[in-house]
Amino acid sequence: MALIITDECINCDVCEPECPNEAISAGEEIYEIEPSKCTECVGHYDEPQCQLVCPVDCIPQDDNNMETQEELEAKYERLTGKTIS
Ligand code: SF4
Ligand code: SF4
Repeated sequence: MALIITDECINCDVCEPECPNEAISAGEEIYEIEPSKCTECVGHYDEPQCQLVCPVDCIPQDDNNMETQEELEAKYERLTGKTIS
């Protein structure tokens, strides 16, 4: 599933450059994750990079965007044009 940024975000901008899919951007009030671009870092890293760097721990999984490992891998392949072996 994609991750989501909660309103505890302090707009520190640390997560945005870490996202390999350019899924994170500054929204009107807090940073936001575009669900169609978030693969939970599947295909790029073993762990979600944004969660690792967020100083206030405000990036949980989004229960409204549930996806299987296979769906995340397919999203990675669609976004990058690469195949997961
Ligand atoms: S989990 Fe990975 S792909 Fe998703 S927003 Fe965070 S850094 Fe980007
Ligand atoms: S790292 Fe966390 S607090 Fe900083 S901008 Fe990203 S979501 Fe917000």
